[in-house]
Amino acid sequence: MTEIATETGTPAVGVELSERLTAGPHLYIDGRWQHSSDGGTRDLINPATGAVFTTVDEATADDALAAVAAARAAFDAGEWSATPVAERAAILRRIADLLVRDREELARIETVDTGKTLEESKIDLADVESVLRYYASLVEVSADRLVDVGNPAVVSRIVHEPIGVCVLIAPWNYPLLQISWKIAPALAAGCTMVAKPSEVTPLSTIAFVHLCEEAGVPAGVLNLVQGAGSAIGDALTDNPDVDLISFTGGLTTGTRIAKAAAPHVSRVALELGGKNPHIVFADADLPAAIDQVLTGVFLHSGQVCSAGTRLIVEESIADEVVDALIERAGSIRMGDGLDPSSRTGPLVSEAQLTKMHEYVKLGVDEGAVLRTGGGRPDRDDLSPGGYWFAPTIFDRCDRSMRIVSDETFGPILTVERFGTESEALALGNDTEYGLAAGVWTSDDARGERLTRGLRHGTVWLNDFGYYTPAAEWGGFGKSGNGRELGPTGLAEYQEAKHIWKNTSPAPAGWFPVPGDDDATA
Ligand code: NAD
Repeated sequence: MTEIATETGTPAVGVELSERLTAGPHLYIDGRWQHSSDGGTRDLINPATGAVFTTVDEATADDALAAVAAARAAFDAGEWSATPVAERAAILRRIADLLVRDREELARIETVDTGKTLEESKIDLADVESVLRYYASLVEVSADRLVDVGNPAVVSRIVHEPIGVCVLIAPWNYPLLQISWKIAPALAAGCTMVAKPSEVTPLSTIAFVHLCEEAGVPAGVLNLVQGAGSAIGDALTDNPDVDLISFTGGLTTGTRIAKAAAPHVSRVALELGGKNPHIVFADADLPAAIDQVLTGVFLHSGQVCSAGTRLIVEESIADEVVDALIERAGSIRMGDGLDPSSRTGPLVSEAQLTKMHEYVKLGVDEGAVLRTGGGRPDRDDLSPGGYWFAPTIFDRCDRSMRIVSDETFGPILTVERFGTESEALALGNDTEYGLAAGVWTSDDARGERLTRGLRHGTVWLNDFGYYTPAAEWGGFGKSGNGRELGPTGLAEYQEAKHIWKNTSPAPAGWFPVPGDDDATA
């Protein structure tokens, strides 16, 4: 029996899942598991060791086209969209139950694939379960409505119908979580779909699709391909059979997808990057603020779209806050995510590691003051092949620096200082992105002014980083153009249709009827 091995010698996943995951096949098209049509595969690397831990099938463009065609045929057959809402909701709940059954194995998969700690993976899985249950319940409550058209003979209704074939593309930082924010509402709405996880971290999605199959999702409704965007992206996005593309990932990829989809007028929902300000006023609860600034930027080694990477702190407390952060950053326990004592893991890939080194050099060249971190932690116990990068803090930063304007997507905090409230607000809004922001103040009126003034999709006041399935998530500006979660996250997968029914039919009476007395008058 094959088991996914880790360097620690522990099987990465439980026996039941590991066998079907390691042996494959890994593409799921029209209800059949299959290998790539050209036999192509990709090695998956454990970021904590740099070692290959398994190999998966990698789709070709033809496989991607076949997956879209299967989703199209399934949608046009109409069975899934005609399945009673209660049955679709029951399948979502069954998937959630299976997820709970397999959560230990799934958590290990996510940790070995991404590098995040086991505890984080378990939190992600609990969130996936919540999203499935949330959409199961939401879809059971009809959002259809009657419209008063001012004519008692007319019954005017707005009904919601599935948009059709959806392509769901996810990034590597929260692999299963991000794709579940798409699969759950798409299934609930009655759509058919092709899921494409990141080629860097596809394993948990493959396992999840097995659970969906087991839960009774019919053939053709949920298809799965994995592979690099450069190889299969166009087949998925420049495709007249696709009605919606829901994409979470970087700005460059997002704009490329929007262009590919434009000729087909496919709906495109984009959840993109962020460069998120975390503003601390002198009147804040400082121990709480400092702790949350630290967590907000260094959790998951900063590989979080909503990471608070820009500390914007009032000048009078800046030195105190920065000194405390430096001390705390130095004590963060980094290690293999499977080790329960680790509080954060490595970066996901060598490419991410190289990028962080480049940003540190850039920051120093730009004149920012490197106060801590900046490279591999000085620790003998970390695997030499792992992608380790220490929590890093740059002080004395300003908006002209690229380390302040670019999304670094790693454990790099920049510090800017302000004197007045209006300066803080202007700095917080001085970004092309607009995903998330945090504000710390004990002044209620100021808190209200800032939370309303900040042009970001989520603003936390005296807190940071939390979300819930019932509340919309998404970005202003170049952070995106759609919303996931909440009722809007379901509406993304629906078309609103207006049905006008006249219970007392009559001629329109606009054009005269020849021979009619009034008409000839
Ligand atoms: P990425 O843009 O490189 O890749 C995202 C996905 O797009 C991957 O599955 C990739 O294979 C695919 N892709 C690449 N080129 C494609 C193409 N031409 N056509 C179709 N698909 C293509 O992003 P990443 O490095 O995987 O993830 C990091 C980014 O994701 C960051 O910018 C981060 O902020 C963002 N992100 C945003 C949110 C959010 O909620 N807004 C959440 C998580 C991550």
